[in-house]
Amino acid sequence: MDTVITAAQVLPEPGSPLPNGAVLVRDDKIVAVGAREDVVRQAAPGFAQRDFPASTVMAGLFNSHVHLAFDAGKDLLGPLESSTADEIQAAAKERTRQLLSTGVTTIRDLGDRDHLAIAVRDALDKEGVAAPRLLSAAAPLTVPGGHCHFFGGAAADDNEIRALIDANAEAGADVIKVMASGGQITPGGADMWESQFDARQLGVIVEHARRHGLPVAAHAHGADAIESCVDAGVNTIEHCTWMVGPQQSDMREPVAKRMADQGIAACSTSSRNWRMMVERMGDEVAQRIYGRLTWMEGLGVPLIAGTDAGLPGSVFDDPVGALELYEWLGFSRTRILEIATTDSARALGLGEVTGRLAPGYSADLLVIAGDPLKDLGALGDVEVVLAAGRAG
Ligand SMILES: [Zn+2]
Repeated sequence: MDTVITAAQVLPEPGSPLPNGAVLVRDDKIVAVGAREDVVRQAAPGFAQRDFPASTVMAGLFNSHVHLAFDAGKDLLGPLESSTADEIQAAAKERTRQLLSTGVTTIRDLGDRDHLAIAVRDALDKEGVAAPRLLSAAAPLTVPGGHCHFFGGAAADDNEIRALIDANAEAGADVIKVMASGGQITPGGADMWESQFDARQLGVIVEHARRHGLPVAAHAHGADAIESCVDAGVNTIEHCTWMVGPQQSDMREPVAKRMADQGIAACSTSSRNWRMMVERMGDEVAQRIYGRLTWMEGLGVPLIAGTDAGLPGSVFDDPVGALELYEWLGFSRTRILEIATTDSARALGLGEVTGRLAPGYSADLLVIAGDPLKDLGALGDVEVVLAAGRAG
């Protein structure tokens, strides 16, 4: 069945707005994008038409860093420990629904246990309901007792590293996640700025992941860990805060330039909590901490959208609140929409699949009441969301 969607504005890409355009959707794909007459001409007889005279049609958003296993509450592990497998899966499914209803059509889960996200994906597939495209890392690699070891991904040596990657690949993982530095949410273990794996071990991880055709996403707060990740050739760096000690950072320009050259993307992992952080830290400190994003953008480091949804206060239904950080930093709205769509797609290896409206691309699209290029807040007013052609 063909559907022609017309709107005041169509954004094939955020930087090329098309006034009074149209999009032709057939099953799960986009067939045509352009001027109304041209698009209508390509539709099969009896096509459906939906007109949105005051709206914008654009590609669905990305959240490149979520944890479907967590509920965004203060007690991270409690609910997980006290629930049955069925309850955990039902809750995770509900979170994908929240993501979809707020315009997110692609998510990357960067850490769970018992292959939760993969099970959720399979269940949603079977039900045939609208759902975001879901990439899963399964259990992240860490060191014994290290950051997020409770997911079951601790590896003590190269053999264990390879065995875990094999197991994740076998289970259907789309990406290998490694906790290259310490983090905030695991008591004991390395501090955030301390490395958990050295460049050689990270190299083993990248090489073995590639053997399975899988990219590597590295959690790295420490500047040393970031540098090792770049040496090893990971695909994305999560958080990327350049820490060298408590409240100390060292933004290493040569390393960032290599990220730009090698196309290694940085994911800020900032949720809408950034506003609270600004209030707590004050403008000046906040500018310094979040200013790393402006600095990396200036050096050409690819930036991607991701919120660490599931962690305390990082909800699953406010992508706009998270993206407003970039506006506060002075990014143009065009750039912000690119980060949330085309750029994230490219960095996640989906640049030929989704993230823009073009013939042959997946029908992952949004109808937004208003114009997000004039008012980013308009993005919060999602009238229609299609995920692979299915209405969410
Ligand atoms: Zn995370």
